[in-house]
Amino acid sequence: MRLTDRLGRPLRDLRISVTDRCNFRCVYCMPKEIFGPGFQFMPRSELLTFEEITRLARIFVAHGVEKIRLTGGEPLLRRQIEVLVAMLAALPGLDDLTLTTNGSLLTPEKALALRDAGLRRITISLDSLDDTVFKSMNEVGVSVETILGAIDAAAAAGLHPIKIDMVVKRGLNEASIVPMAGRFRDSGHILRFIEYMDVGNSNGWRMEDVVSAGEIVRAIDRVWPLEPVEANYVGEVAERWRYRDGRGEIGVIASVTQPFCGTCTRARLSADGRLFTCLFSGTGYDLRHLLRGGEGAVEGVSVPTGGATDDEIAAAVAGVWGRRADRYSEIRTSNTPAVGTRRKVEMSAIGG
Ligand code: SAM
Ligand code: SF4
Ligand code: SF4
Repeated sequence: MRLTDRLGRPLRDLRISVTDRCNFRCVYCMPKEIFGPGFQFMPRSELLTFEEITRLARIFVAHGVEKIRLTGGEPLLRRQIEVLVAMLAALPGLDDLTLTTNGSLLTPEKALALRDAGLRRITISLDSLDDTVFKSMNEVGVSVETILGAIDAAAAAGLHPIKIDMVVKRGLNEASIVPMAGRFRDSGHILRFIEYMDVGNSNGWRMEDVVSAGEIVRAIDRVWPLEPVEANYVGEVAERWRYRDGRGEIGVIASVTQPFCGTCTRARLSADGRLFTCLFSGTGYDLRHLLRGGEGAVEGVSVPTGGATDDEIAAAVAGVWGRRADRYSEIRTSNTPAVGTRRKVEMSAIGG
């Protein structure tokens, strides 16, 4: 059964955050001033187990989800994540299973274990080829070489095509755009540039810090001329460009300057089992409560708590998706107080 929201958008993608913890402190995501030693992460007992995640995923897939991305926090911090990958890979009806990682823990052995478990593709984040710049962005001293090693390990394990995601923040790494393009031209990997977004409440986002997709494409096009490519499918978030000399393609994710809410088919499940219908949501719907029961309320709807059947969980998901009218990025620029001051969930809690 397919679910459709109030704006006619189907539920097709599910991003599952498996932990809110991370071993990086990227300035645009988990600034160390806020995510310091005293920061309260989710207690481990609150995280969904692999069985709980798989049960929910099966219900989502039965209701139209075709693609699942594992994310975080840093998903490779979750012990034996390959076991979860194997459980999800076995779900009938799932077309695409992938994972986004910062790469720091992606050894050749881990890459092979993930592939053997059934992971088909992987996305690795890398913000610069300049060690000083990269370290000033991850704030924990991990080197560029480590991440390039992870990319090679993923390639050797056959996790193709590899996507490499680079968030561009003005004043930090815009000088890395062209060198990154040069490095990954001809590599078979797809480099994607992401506009810096105002996710969460911690990164001190300002519009002036956004380097627009247009600016990024122009900077590369001046050196290696580009031409646009048709989207692979309706709702693809990255706008595709290819090098005119045939040396591969890049993507740009213009979530700020060219929002794509109209075709947004993504739901997000936090590590503690809350369902979010938008990256910029303030609250999520507590699905864990349906699984386990216990203290807490399920907002606005009357449903059983604890020991719910698959049908009852499916009805709750259908209700949440059916009420969905999110289009935050399209209204962001109107910058009304309601938008500017609203509380939003942190990116590290629900994943990119
Ligand atoms: N830790 C993993 C990683 O970094 O790849 C997965 C989780 S991370 C939240 C997922 C993606 O979100 C990363 O590619 C990251 O660069 C991106 N991201 C985080 N904060 C962002 C922001 N403020 N604007 C745009 N992208 C952001
Ligand atoms: Fe961690 Fe990824 Fe956020 Fe960086 S972007 S702090 S690696 S979760
Ligand atoms: Fe989807 Fe929300 Fe992003 Fe719009 S702002 S594209 S609705 S996640």
